[in-house]
Amino acid sequence: MNQLPPLAFCGSPLDRAEDLRRSDSELAALAQQDAAGAILFLKGCPAITTDHALLRWPLAEALALPHADEPILLGLEDGAPLYVVDLDPGAAPPEEARFVDTRMAALQLPIDETGILAHARSLVEWRRKHRFCSNCGSKTRQIEAGRKRACPDCGTEHFPRVDPVAIMLVVKDDWCLLGRQEGWPPRMWSALAGFMEPGETIAQAAAREVYEEAGLTADPATAQLIADQPWPFASSLMLGLIIDAITVDITIDTHEIEDARWFSKDEVRAMLNGAHPEADIPPKIAIARRLLEVWAG
Ligand SMILES: [Zn+2]
Repeated sequence: MNQLPPLAFCGSPLDRAEDLRRSDSELAALAQQDAAGAILFLKGCPAITTDHALLRWPLAEALALPHADEPILLGLEDGAPLYVVDLDPGAAPPEEARFVDTRMAALQLPIDETGILAHARSLVEWRRKHRFCSNCGSKTRQIEAGRKRACPDCGTEHFPRVDPVAIMLVVKDDWCLLGRQEGWPPRMWSALAGFMEPGETIAQAAAREVYEEAGLTADPATAQLIADQPWPFASSLMLGLIIDAITVDITIDTHEIEDARWFSKDEVRAMLNGAHPEADIPPKIAIARRLLEVWAG
């Protein structure tokens, strides 16, 4: 394994309190603790402090604010329960709370805080979009303090989604393939990526995506899982691979990407240093950059 630092969103230190969640009385006692705290979300954005931490409010005070739904228990932090409270998007937020875009927050917060942020944001966004039972259409209710939802009519339990995404650096000798999507900032290039489909392995998904997007054949047998990363937009799990190309001629599917080209290892090193004359790569919170660091380092 390499000695590179952990990626953003990977470091949650919370005890998710699995054993307490099945007991309503234990959960009620947790919520009554004086030390019970809550982080606040508004429209998908967390509140953070000026000294680079997630803002923690006493739970009772957070619940006195106009909020969109029940608090979700994230887990125990040094023994004290920590919740996330999603504020009512139609109400004025508290003046003391400074809400920032999650990607901006991830660039500013220490690794542990980004892990809590990823956990909280994915749960809040999942709940917002899964209020009704996918089996019978009835309204679902939160159980186990938000770890899942249940349908009171048909009994189906609904678990938070985690959507695996293969993101792969395609390499051939001292060259790697990077692509651009429409709407990206000028100069920005990154690894190809796509959601996994049912019935395929990670390596097969990587090879399929490479073929669909760039018309290249890659060898699934060479795929190496380099790193993984929760990516809370809304609930992806990025699976970062390096995979060898068999063919090198590019045929772009313009429905998927705007452009793709081969970059040399020297060019990648220049991009990592911000010194390439015409190309940039994603910031350090992105797993694509990690793949390039590992390959070119
Ligand atoms: Zn149902």
